[in-house]
Amino acid sequence: MIKPTSFKGVDFHCHLDLYPDLMNTYNAVEKAGIYTLSVTTTPKAWPRNRDLTNGKVFIRAALGFHPQLVADRAHELHEWEQYLPEAKYIGEVGLDAGPRFRKSLDIQKRVFKIILERCADIGGKILTVHSTRCAEIVLDMIEEHLSPERGRVVLHWFTGSIAQARRASELGCYFSINKEMAQKERGRELITTIPRERLLTETDGPFTQTNGRPTHPTDIHLAVKATADILGITTSEMGNILLANLKSLLT
Ligand code: MN
Repeated sequence: MIKPTSFKGVDFHCHLDLYPDLMNTYNAVEKAGIYTLSVTTTPKAWPRNRDLTNGKVFIRAALGFHPQLVADRAHELHEWEQYLPEAKYIGEVGLDAGPRFRKSLDIQKRVFKIILERCADIGGKILTVHSTRCAEIVLDMIEEHLSPERGRVVLHWFTGSIAQARRASELGCYFSINKEMAQKERGRELITTIPRERLLTETDGPFTQTNGRPTHPTDIHLAVKATADILGITTSEMGNILLANLKSLLT
């Protein structure tokens, strides 16, 4: 359970298992008290990430199948399904229609459909979803296959349109905001469009940089500050919003 007094921040999308110095990374997050979702990119990576987060107070592991890796690993889908009952959090999953991955979009869609359907079958899962250059299709699939009563979706690093952000909100989606989004005009516009009660924060470390090194969950205050500045509120007000949103997502 989340205690307001211990709340220091939330990083709802971080690849903790990809940092070089694993033990120090996990320990630093625990010590800092940042609620961190440690996503995985392949089903094969799940057992290790699950074991690394075992007994941790602030870190939870997510069972993922990254859309950029699906084409070469579609055969791992049965492993993903096998692990599903033991995972509350799912991700990183979704679709990527960027130039490098567009050619595998059909396989990605087949896999993502099964992921959404299985999550809906079991119920109670919380997903962190990638939607690069295909927000519309991702939202169509969520609408069709995973109602908010059967599972919750957090859109990670959302770069769709304002209209799509509104539609996603109507579908019950949350949004995890990183500091990179706050640096772009479109991102700032999105942040002001999204209902405040749906905002979370993320680093997407180690794939983002802070001061010339990979961003760490303990840098999450930068995303909190950037978001608060855009909304014209204090970081402490933003912290209260994030705590309330994390609680509502988890209950
Ligand atoms: Mn990611």
